[in-house]
Amino acid sequence: MRSKIVAGNWKMNKNLSETKALLSELLEKLPKTEAKVIVAPTYVNLESAARILQSSDIKVAAQNMHFAKSGAYTGEISADMLLNINVDTVIIGHSERRAYFGETDDLLAKKVEAALANNMQVIFCFGEELEERKSGNHFNVVESQLKNGLFNLPAEAWQHIVLAYEPVWAIGTGETASPEQAQEMHAFIRKTITEAYDTSIANEVSILYGGSVKPSNAQEIFSKPDVDGGLIGGAALVADDFIAIIKAI
Ligand code: PEP
Repeated sequence: MRSKIVAGNWKMNKNLSETKALLSELLEKLPKTEAKVIVAPTYVNLESAARILQSSDIKVAAQNMHFAKSGAYTGEISADMLLNINVDTVIIGHSERRAYFGETDDLLAKKVEAALANNMQVIFCFGEELEERKSGNHFNVVESQLKNGLFNLPAEAWQHIVLAYEPVWAIGTGETASPEQAQEMHAFIRKTITEAYDTSIANEVSILYGGSVKPSNAQEIFSKPDVDGGLIGGAALVADDFIAIIKAI
């Protein structure tokens, strides 16, 4: 059975005091839920977050990592550094990393491989840009991002992968894919995985939707059969909104 997941990507927001305040509000208000709840604060606050949440039902993820074990990569963070502070989940391939930091499919494939080699869980993000959707190329783009980033993996690696379909035009724009658009793409993703691997892998992998999910639209998006939860940006920074989205699942 695939899991329901609500993950909050805090991006470059919240200093240490604000991180502690948001986490304590989340802990206080978190409802009983079967969904996995994950938060991804910025690197510098990961250790504190991991300590604060260690005996809670909220997991901590990193927003990025380098593929190398260690070495001369100024400003970068390795899998070992994350594991050493009890962070075993990492977001890879966010569209902001692809767009602003030049992360290519090839680089992302290396990062995924490194994370899995260290027994980490990966939330792999991908999705088309506005022009690509307008020109009807969105299915091809998503297929090639999946193929280049993940389809070199052996079948057994997929139990450590969560997918996050995030149409770039819907991220931080207030514009959301309709529940039908999300369902259509999620079904296409499962079909693509079935063709590359098999139905059981396609049916077992959790596929999150990301892009301006908020309390007012979460329930409708999550009601679609191939949508297993959400990767949440802006709304994850406000405890009441994030909690409302968790309740919606
Ligand atoms: C994101 O950055 O992953 C995201 C989905 O952001 P937002 O919810 O703000 O659109």
